[in-house]
Amino acid sequence: MQKEIAMFDVQKVREDFPILKRTVNGKPLVYFDNAATSQTPQVVIDAIVDYYSSYNANIHRGVHTLSQEATDAYEIARKKVQQHFNAKHSYEIILTSGTTHSINIIATGFTNLLTKGDEIIVSALEHHSNIVPWQMLCERTGAILKVIPMNEEGELVMSVYDELLTERTKLVFTNHISNALGTINPIEEIIEKAHKVGAAVLIDGAQSCPHIKPDVQELDVDFYVASAHKLCGPTGVGMLYGKEEWLEKLPPYQGGGEMIDQVTFEKTTYAGLPHKFEAGTPNICGGIAFGVALDYMNSIGFDNIAAYENDLLEYGTQKLLEVEGLKIYGTSKNKTSVISFNIENIHPYDIGTIVDKLGIAVRTGHHCAQPIMDFYKIPGTVRASFSFYNTKEEIDALVAAVQKAKTMLS
Ligand SMILES: *Cc1c(COP(=O)(O)O)cnc(C)c1O
Repeated sequence: MQKEIAMFDVQKVREDFPILKRTVNGKPLVYFDNAATSQTPQVVIDAIVDYYSSYNANIHRGVHTLSQEATDAYEIARKKVQQHFNAKHSYEIILTSGTTHSINIIATGFTNLLTKGDEIIVSALEHHSNIVPWQMLCERTGAILKVIPMNEEGELVMSVYDELLTERTKLVFTNHISNALGTINPIEEIIEKAHKVGAAVLIDGAQSCPHIKPDVQELDVDFYVASAHKLCGPTGVGMLYGKEEWLEKLPPYQGGGEMIDQVTFEKTTYAGLPHKFEAGTPNICGGIAFGVALDYMNSIGFDNIAAYENDLLEYGTQKLLEVEGLKIYGTSKNKTSVISFNIENIHPYDIGTIVDKLGIAVRTGHHCAQPIMDFYKIPGTVRASFSFYNTKEEIDALVAAVQKAKTMLS
């Protein structure tokens, strides 16, 4: 873990987020549910208000000024996403409604590319949105789903991955960072080995993008997906990066307006990339605000964010472990600022309820990752996930609240 202290003033950063000024149950809000959704800075809120106040119009269709302004702003946003992820071409960026939508575009698109007996590998650390679409794909095609197992630390067992990879492997899917445990998966190695057997790789970056700036060309990944709402952007918008040759090969996901070239009742020809995958009116305002959110995060700097959050992670881990009977799940050396924990003989839901009374927002439950909970034989965990706008004082408040919950419940 890096020791260096971030080059930004956290109190100043907090001023950018109006919600951090509110109280909950009479206490100052402590927001530790960043792995579920991040908070929204004023610049992003302003972009949303500005869109609806001054140039709300449908895109790519009208010749009128408002429509052209909206189209330009939307396409600038696509370019910002392209630059952020370092895609070769802006048409390799599909703007979607989020990670789940992006994954479903690929899972559906592969239906005609797989045959019975082909194999798909997923990791044991997946979010449900990265399990269910592949199970559905297997049902449609007769392909077989294989799983890279995890160990006690919450890491993937890579020696088993080596054994699972064969010439029958057509697709490999894993998240970059586990939302339930915070483990950073060795995606470089996963991608390289999959390519050796000719398999395509999709990386779910929903949980990594708030902490790491990925370079899709350097990773040589085939598909990369993320959601804006975990990156200081609005809900209902996200991205799908695909290598041009893959996106050309895959069929459209939905039929409708925007995605066509010529339509007659005999035959329709499809529009080129990226429009082939963008049927219907998209979340125009959301796309524009996504671009602004990326600008905002880049202005703080991802190296600064990583250094600061690592410091919070180290501090939070140490302080929480001082609570007697507290166990942390996910203890890999390679992890981000997510702490999943339980206290002996206390249900996570009860802890979540009591700390909420003290103004602290944590997530309790299975975090859309039931297989991980089954591995540890627990119903769920309490998950505190830190962002660059959180502070050590807030962690102290959490630890005090957890101590109080423990006293009340045991
Ligand atoms: C949040 C999350 C998703 C789902 O994202 P949506 O925005 O709900 O579509 C998928 N995978 C991981 C790892 C996540 O953290």
